[in-house]
Amino acid sequence: MRTIAVMNQKGGVGKTTTSVNLAAALARAGKRVCVIDMDPQGHASFHLGLECGPGVATVYDVFAGEADVDQVRQLVGQNISVIPSNIDLAAAEVELANVGGREFLLRNAMKHWRDNNKLDYVIMDCPPSLGVLTINALCAVTEVLIPLQPHFFALQGLSKLFETTALVTRRLNRDLCVSGVALCLYESGTRLAADVTEDLRHFLTSSDSDTPWADARIFRTRVRRNIKLAEAPSFGQSIFDYAPTCPGAKDYAELGREVLAMEDSLSDTGETPAQAA
Ligand code: ADP
Ligand code: MG
Repeated sequence: MRTIAVMNQKGGVGKTTTSVNLAAALARAGKRVCVIDMDPQGHASFHLGLECGPGVATVYDVFAGEADVDQVRQLVGQNISVIPSNIDLAAAEVELANVGGREFLLRNAMKHWRDNNKLDYVIMDCPPSLGVLTINALCAVTEVLIPLQPHFFALQGLSKLFETTALVTRRLNRDLCVSGVALCLYESGTRLAADVTEDLRHFLTSSDSDTPWADARIFRTRVRRNIKLAEAPSFGQSIFDYAPTCPGAKDYAELGREVLAMEDSLSDTGETPAQAA
């Protein structure tokens, strides 16, 4: 089971779009995928066709210890399921503040999946903050995927993000690493996008080898700005169902292939994806 947190503390950079459409791409390739919506805004749930009003079981119930992960997981298509979220989850940040072991609630809840080989991929759509929900995601995964919108301040936020993963790696989850940065909302042909990409490359290659991002790649796929990607959520469909031939669908299919190809390199290190999880 590969476990990937899609994370960036900035909003509007493509986390949810990437979580949903990458998950859909992997499901289409035959992988059993679950998206965990870790954002109280519930955008990923909505994007995958779920309306989570009051009374619907969500990931909040898992944090509250009132449900296990399979009780709240809903199938939304072939090979793809979601653990939804709604605004109830916002309370978790406060309610968990004094709970011992709060960082590991999600990790413990997912143990059952690991033991039973239930899923191939778990993708977590993180909220735009570095609070207890994001920390839970980082403690429950081995990989972080960072969507980045290439603009002038993009790299500033990134160092904070990297420090947080380093902290989690040191104190809470030594198996965690940043596996890659996906450039989203990409404006091909602009000087700025090329410059930011170059700066990012320089930052990654000049980092120490003991940082959790030492092996991070910049995915070759550039997810171009494409209006269909912005329209799909309101229809509750992934891009492959909404507009299967648009550039957005091509880009996420390509990103999916890159993520799948990493399975080979994970095995190269003697670590099968199953063990890595
Ligand atoms: P985040 O989850 O990081 O806040 P979203 O994935 O919700 O970001 O994206 C922010 C907004 O930009 C949404 O309205 C989304 O539909 C839109 N969007 C994301 N990626 C693209 C893209 N490649 N092209 C066009 N619109 C996009
Ligand atoms: Mg989002």
